[in-house]
Amino acid sequence: MKKKTSLHTILFVVLLTTFAVFVYYNGRITFPNYTLKKEPQEPVKKAYKPSTAVSAEITHSAGLVSEQKKTTETATSILQIPPKKPEKTQAEKAHEWLVAMEKCHGIHKIKTNEKVVALTFDDGPNGKYTQEILEILKQHHIRGTFFLIGKNALQYPKLVQELFAEQNVLGNHTYSHNRFSKLSVSEATEELQKDSSIIYELTGVVPALFRPPYGICSDDSRDVTKKLAYKTILWNDITDDYDINKTTAEGIASDILKLVHPGGILALHDGGGDRSKSVAALKIIISTLEKEGYKFLTVPELLDVSPYQIVVMDNYVSWGHQTIKKHENPSDARPINTIIIHSAYSHLDNDKYDLDALLKEHAVNNFAPHYIIERDGIIHRLVPDSTIAYHAGKSKMPDGRTNINDFSIGIELLNAETDSPTTAQYRALNHLVSFLKSVYPIEHILGNNQVSGENKLDPWNFEWSNLTL
Ligand SMILES: [Zn+2]
Repeated sequence: MKKKTSLHTILFVVLLTTFAVFVYYNGRITFPNYTLKKEPQEPVKKAYKPSTAVSAEITHSAGLVSEQKKTTETATSILQIPPKKPEKTQAEKAHEWLVAMEKCHGIHKIKTNEKVVALTFDDGPNGKYTQEILEILKQHHIRGTFFLIGKNALQYPKLVQELFAEQNVLGNHTYSHNRFSKLSVSEATEELQKDSSIIYELTGVVPALFRPPYGICSDDSRDVTKKLAYKTILWNDITDDYDINKTTAEGIASDILKLVHPGGILALHDGGGDRSKSVAALKIIISTLEKEGYKFLTVPELLDVSPYQIVVMDNYVSWGHQTIKKHENPSDARPINTIIIHSAYSHLDNDKYDLDALLKEHAVNNFAPHYIIERDGIIHRLVPDSTIAYHAGKSKMPDGRTNINDFSIGIELLNAETDSPTTAQYRALNHLVSFLKSVYPIEHILGNNQVSGENKLDPWNFEWSNLTL
C-alpha cells in the first residue's frame, strides 16, 4: 500500500513538473520566425502607400518566409499557443520603419531653389535592366548614382565597369542585401567591406556613399558606416516600384513626379526583380522633368562631396605577374596579409620620375608591384590585388617565410636614393594602406630592404613614422 502511494506521489510530481515546464515555456518560448513574419515593410515617408507597400526586396525571401511561417504554424498547433501579441497595424509598422530609418542619420535631400534632382538606382547591377537604364541615361546625357549589391556586381563585372566608365557614380548597397538594422558590428563591417572591395577590384574606386538595404539601420550598424567613412544616402522621393505586381510604369512615374522638388533625391530600382516598369517609368520621369526645366545631377554633385574614398588609376600591365583571375568571389581569393613597400625610378630617361620610362624597365625585368604612387600622389594599379605580382624577388620574411609574392601586395613609390618621398605620396600611401587593411587581415607592413635576399636598400629615405596607421 505504501509502495502504491509513493508511486502515485512520483507520478503526481512528474505530471506537476511537466505542467510547470509547459507553463514556463508557454511564456518563454520565442518564435524567431514569427517575428520575421511581422517585419515592418518598406519605410513609409509621405510618398509611400503603406497599405500596398510590399517590398520586392522582401519578396526576394518570400519562399523563406513562407517556409518559416509553416514551421511556426506547426509549432504553434502542437503547443496550442496562440500568438502573444496582436498583428501590428500598418501605422505601427510604418512608425517602426521610420524609427529605424532615422537611426541611419542619412541624407534625404538638399535645400536649394535650383531645379536640380539626383536619380538613384538600387539593387543592381542587372544584366537587362541596368543596361537599359544606362542607355536611357546616355541618350539624355544624364549620369545616375547606382547603389550596387556586391553579389550582383560579381555577376555582371563588365556592367559595373561600363557604369563607371560612363561616369555614373557607384555607391555601396552591401554585399548580400540583408537587413542592415539586424546586423552585428562585425557583420555590418563585412557587408560594407566586401561590397566595396568588389567595386574597388573592378574599377579602382572605393565608394564614399552608402545606402542601407531597406533604408534602415541600428545604432551599431550606423556607427560602422561612420567608422568606415561612408556618407549614408537615403531619399526624399521613392516609388513603390518594388511592388511589381501592383503598379504600372505610369503609377511609378506619377509617384515620383507628384513629390518631386528642387534638391530631391529620387529612388528607383534596377535590380531585385522584373524592373521593366521602372525602366519605362524612368523615360516618363526624365522627359517630364526635363520639360519642367530640371537638371539631373549625381548625388555627390548635388551634395558637393567626393564620390569616392580612394581613386586608383587602373593601368594594368601585361608582365610581372601570374595570370589575372578577375571577378572571383572574395572568399576564393588568395590570402593577403603583408604589404611590401618599394621605391624605384627610371634610369632610361633624363626624367628619373617618368612613369612610362620606369615601366619599360620593369617590363624588361618582368617586375611589377601592384601599385605605383607618383610624386604627386596619383596611385596607379598595375596588377589587381587578387593576382600574384612579381615584386619581392628572392625574399624572406623576418619570420622565415619565403614566397612573399604569394601573400603580399607590393606598393612602389616613385623615388630615388637622393630624394625623399613627397608629402602627397605619404598621404596617398596612407589612404591606400588604410583601405587595404580594412579589406585584408594585414599583419605586416615591411620595406623591401627588410625582406630582400638581394641586398636591396629601398624604400630609400622612407620615414616610417609618416605611415599613420
Ligand atoms: Zn535595396
